[in-house]
Amino acid sequence: MRIAVFPGSFDPITLGHFDIVERAYPLFDKIIIAIGHNSKKNYMFSLEKRKEFIKKTFKDYDKIEVDHFEGLTIDYCKSKKVKFILRGLRNPADFEFEKAIAQTNRRLSHDDKIETIFLLTSSGKSFISSSIVREIINYNGEYELLVPPAVKI
Ligand code: ADP
Repeated sequence: MRIAVFPGSFDPITLGHFDIVERAYPLFDKIIIAIGHNSKKNYMFSLEKRKEFIKKTFKDYDKIEVDHFEGLTIDYCKSKKVKFILRGLRNPADFEFEKAIAQTNRRLSHDDKIETIFLLTSSGKSFISSSIVREIINYNGEYELLVPPAVKI
């Protein structure tokens, strides 16, 4: 089975995340959308809400699972025996950051040789980020334009 973990904060899920998952969907037998949760960090949406938004968004996708984890993504992947990490790339800053993480993860995965698979953001989606959505929500803007319909505040 070709299984990928798509890790992220998803605070909240955006149309950018949705686009990456939809396009990766035919490539894998299963995609686990795994919410990385750090109990010391402050989030706009609780873990339960973030999970609910994602579950609702992908309710008709039978190859999608939603989970959460604390700690290192690589340890989560090992615990699930998953060989692929899915990530999206928006811009050169993402590239530099993700390159270091992906290379580190490969090193830390030892003989498991866990690979990170990158998909480029679709044109028209590269400006979307959870932090921009949170900013719009804070100022009562039209956040609905940037998130799947399941995201309700
Ligand atoms: P993290 O805190 O791990 O970066 P995010 O929820 O912000 O978590 O992002 C999770 C993944 O989704 C990352 O790989 C990120 O690059 C990708 N992503 C977020 N927004 C977009 C977008 N607009 N286009 C493509 N990929 C995106």
